[in-house]
Amino acid sequence: MNRTHQNVFLSFFTLTVMSQLELLWPHPTSPYVLLGISERADIGEIRGAFKRRALETHPDKCGPTAGESFLLVKEAATLLLDPYQRSQYDQLRLQTTVRLTGEVSDSYRLGEDFDLTAEETGYQVYQRECRCGGLYEVIVFEGEKRTVVRCECDCCSLTVEVDLSAS
Ligand SMILES: [Zn+2]
Repeated sequence: MNRTHQNVFLSFFTLTVMSQLELLWPHPTSPYVLLGISERADIGEIRGAFKRRALETHPDKCGPTAGESFLLVKEAATLLLDPYQRSQYDQLRLQTTVRLTGEVSDSYRLGEDFDLTAEETGYQVYQRECRCGGLYEVIVFEGEKRTVVRCECDCCSLTVEVDLSAS
């Protein structure tokens, strides 16, 4: 694998992981935190935590403001009680934790600031040179639902935000 292919692979991997994670769990607080359990909790503990948290947050008992957190608790339990979704979530989160922390240094528009460098079945690859000489790369998927993505330079530590909607 030469450097360019490796970079394409790495950013494709990161973006794929991030969008999958957002589809699976589009909330800032993790389902484990919402249920108040450890990431090693077994199915019995998850069920117990759901019942407890459902009682604590149910709108009938806690007034109208609690409605939203009750729905979140329900959503968290639904995700974690499905062994397939849970292991998918755990793996995806592990892979993205490190990469989501970078501060955004610039904002760009995909259509104006990036060049289309490859067009494949199901996705397109756009690139822009970073001021360090490295590359920013955005993969846009067919039927793309994201409007803004974050993207890391492959060389320095800069992270930029790219608006996909403006073309
Ligand atoms: Zn750079």
